Amino acid sequence: MNLDSDKENKGNILLVDDNPKNLHLLSDSLIKLGYTVRSVTSGRMALKTVKVKQPDIIFLDIKMPEMDGYQVCRTLKADEVLRAIPIIFISALDDVFDKVIAFESGGIDYITKPFQMEEVVARLENQLTIQRQRRLLEQENIKRRETEEILYQSRAMLASILNSSLDGIAAMQAVRNPATGEIEDFRCLAINPVIAKAFGRKCEEIIGKLVLKKLLTNLEPELFNHFVNVVETGEALKQDFYHPLGNFSWYHFVAVKLDDGFAITIRDITARKQIELALQDANQKLEQLANLDGLTQVANRRCFDARLKTEWKRLAREQQPLSLIMFDVDKFKLYNDYYGHLAGDDCLIRIAQTVQQTIHRPADLVARYGGEEFLVLLPNTDLRGAIKVAESIQQAIHTLAIPHVKSDVKDIITVSLGITSRIPNWDIKPYILIASADKALYHAKQNGRDRYCV
Ligand code: GH3
Ligand code: MG
Ligand code: MG
Repeated sequence: MNLDSDKENKGNILLVDDNPKNLHLLSDSLIKLGYTVRSVTSGRMALKTVKVKQPDIIFLDIKMPEMDGYQVCRTLKADEVLRAIPIIFISALDDVFDKVIAFESGGIDYITKPFQMEEVVARLENQLTIQRQRRLLEQENIKRRETEEILYQSRAMLASILNSSLDGIAAMQAVRNPATGEIEDFRCLAINPVIAKAFGRKCEEIIGKLVLKKLLTNLEPELFNHFVNVVETGEALKQDFYHPLGNFSWYHFVAVKLDDGFAITIRDITARKQIELALQDANQKLEQLANLDGLTQVANRRCFDARLKTEWKRLAREQQPLSLIMFDVDKFKLYNDYYGHLAGDDCLIRIAQTVQQTIHRPADLVARYGGEEFLVLLPNTDLRGAIKVAESIQQAIHTLAIPHVKSDVKDIITVSLGITSRIPNWDIKPYILIASADKALYHAKQNGRDRYCV
């Protein structure tokens, strides 16, 4: 800071007195004390000079020719800009000094000649302090108004975003246990109509309330801990979420830490989710269709071939047995010829479903190999186990007791079965198992049907 501005800071004073002797006396003393002083000898000159540069304070003599102090004071107080300058009247002790007029005309204080410098300085400093504080207050007011304006603008912007957004937006503040510091719930600081509507409420009903814990207890209690985690770790949380209340909707939300709380945006993805789920469903059905035999609804040959390959590899690794039963309906051509093709189809469906129900292990697979020939793949099953399964298949078909009057084996539908079992080996192709079962089936047919061969 330079000397000039230092003086400026101490106070900028205008002295108005028609008596040059008085002027010098006061001005010298004030300059010595570090004030910046301008002196004029008439009211008219005073009015001119204040317009050039505003003083912080004016010492104004009352008794002056031409224009007295009261008049000068009134003129200044009538001016919008200049009225703020404080005026201290100077009066001689023997003057008839009317204090009432002095204050009415706008004076703020007075001093009497001859001057007592301590008193002058005390009164002067009083006014300057008031003056400085007034300026400070004015500046603060301006700043506050600017801040309010910015705040207002950002509030308006926020409100317009909140109200026009198609996404749900909310801000939550952590409510902590005063003793442990743990987050016990969240207070809703802001929320937009989209979210409020999703919960069947109005914004005002939710803002300021502790709603989250209660809400999530009903929906998905685990989510509360996830939100706490967002606040404690600062890691954002993104998740799809199903809201089973009200309109049964799917939402995708992103929660990010915001001070001691979090901000969340929620998007309704029900339409997308429905398409996704429908697609999943369709894909599943397609997959089933691709793997199921259209007539009997057991696995088809394509499915069987794939399973045979994977099980062969798996059991080669585990060195565990894989068994296969191939069975064929006896004298089925005659059945078709006598009962008709539709009855033949129906018979195949009943046989397939019955065998399917006879098989219990999840890894076992019943497949239609073609025509009236079926395969049963039995992983982790040795020959003894496979024979048991073959016997129960044979028994189950006997129990069905589908009449077959044209069969020379029995008067009901029977099957012949070929059984094979081996521990898979990397060097041998899995189809060896089918060839082997086929051979055994051939023997069963040769040996009179309605039986199994190994
Ligand atoms: P075997 O005891 O030696 O097995 O005599 P079979 O008459 O059963 O054997 P064959 O192979 O001569 O005849 C199989 C018959 O199965 C031919 C066909 O009429 C019938 N068939 C094959 N597939 C179907 C089908 O999908 N539906 C119907 N209804 N019949 C089928
Ligand atoms: Mg047959
Ligand atoms: Mg056949």
